[in-house]
Amino acid sequence: MSDSRPVRTRYAPSPTGDPHVGNIRSALFSWAYARSQGGQFILRIEDTDRNRLVETSTDAIMESLRWLGIDWDEGPEVGGPHEPYFQSQRLPLYQRAASQLIEAGRAYRCFCTAERLEQMRAAQAAAKQPPGYDGLCRQLSAEESEARSKAEPFVVRFAMRREGQTVLNDLVRGQVVFENKLQDDFVMLKSDGYPTYHLGVVVDDTEMEITNAIRGDEWISSAPKHIQLYEALGWTPPVWAHLPLILGPDHKKLSKRSGDTALLDYRTNGYLPAAMINFLAFLGWSLDDHTSILSIEELKQHFDLSRVVANPAVFDIDRLNFLNGHYIRAMGDAEWVETIATWCESGLPASVPRPVDRPVIEQAAPLLKERIARLDEIAPMVAFLFGEEAPEYAPEAILERVPEREVAIRVLETAAERLGAVPDAEWDVARIEAVIRGLEEPLGLKLRKFVPALYVAEMGRAQGIPLFDSLVLLGRERSLRRLRTAIRKLG
Ligand code: GLU
Repeated sequence: MSDSRPVRTRYAPSPTGDPHVGNIRSALFSWAYARSQGGQFILRIEDTDRNRLVETSTDAIMESLRWLGIDWDEGPEVGGPHEPYFQSQRLPLYQRAASQLIEAGRAYRCFCTAERLEQMRAAQAAAKQPPGYDGLCRQLSAEESEARSKAEPFVVRFAMRREGQTVLNDLVRGQVVFENKLQDDFVMLKSDGYPTYHLGVVVDDTEMEITNAIRGDEWISSAPKHIQLYEALGWTPPVWAHLPLILGPDHKKLSKRSGDTALLDYRTNGYLPAAMINFLAFLGWSLDDHTSILSIEELKQHFDLSRVVANPAVFDIDRLNFLNGHYIRAMGDAEWVETIATWCESGLPASVPRPVDRPVIEQAAPLLKERIARLDEIAPMVAFLFGEEAPEYAPEAILERVPEREVAIRVLETAAERLGAVPDAEWDVARIEAVIRGLEEPLGLKLRKFVPALYVAEMGRAQGIPLFDSLVLLGRERSLRRLRTAIRKLG
């Protein structure tokens, strides 16, 4: 936007744990913007906080992106002209920038010990002053600083301008003004020689020729630090876009309970990547004022930062479930059967022989498609089709639905008797339906009052795919046997 360089965006996660929904939304927007502009998307691992490093995170980050189909043009595994893409392997670049700033008088070595900083903080708190470095080492002469650096550990702090204001022109937030007197001489290089986030991100966004830095709103307070760093280094900053916060349905900060779990948990829980992308895309962005279903291809084509809003987005799991159901129903038959097979292989109890019986899956497929929102519902729903008896259940499962034991027994006995009178050759949906509906009268009960007992007897659970079709899939003999088993359990 600010210049005519080809668009280059990046996702720059810190490998401090499995990436969550919010992190991946940043990745998605950065990627979609690069794609819509015919630009490039870079993955850079910001692994400079050695204390918070979690070894498996980088794999989880890449796996999350791959699952969603977010491909990177440069970064781990694919390489690129700005290698390496791990900050821990780029330390000389940051050290060079730090030296440049020290020489220019815009940064200084700080030799303050942890104890001194602690005392300073306590004193500030006691005096009700805002916390921040008091600038003691900013006064050191170049000679003294140089001499002490040979013998003492130190960090490098950036000398913030304290007068006036720092102005951020954000693509989402518009103009944001920061008072410099509230700023602090932050640490940019730690005593272990690793940069902090602030120095790392400025050096790398520059060196990697990032044109648009798209990141979560939680980073906006870092913007004045970055802007001043760019000024001091004489570099051109990227155009920033701070993405709106994601709130839970209660309009409070998204928590683990309201959906902020690891992205890959959504895969485990049976969400489709297309649904997840569609869902994430609308957390802070919209195509227009009516479109709610959007494919990945459409997103790549039409995503635009100008339609990202500043107001917080609300994470609504019902919406995700709706979208997932939509994409399930949009699947072709063959793909659907494959999907069921996959989830059955992993989800059915070990007692079901593997590979799981294909014809059974094929028969159940059309019945399942309309009834589930998540793929992890598949195995529990079809488990009853495998094996002679229904999956194990306690008699209470029936009595919770049909509370009187005698009534429940009478339901099951009458059903067994009437269904038993249907010859094998006539065992079809229409006939079974007629028989079961016909039970209302002798039982003196509405269908919905007694049918759960039949569900539990046949399926081991009080709801599932339609009962009449299920009995056809089970066949006459198994269906009747399961009714007798249930009667025995209750009796
Ligand atoms: N490493 C930061 C993070 O973990 C990156 C923030 C940014 O995109 O600048 O979120």
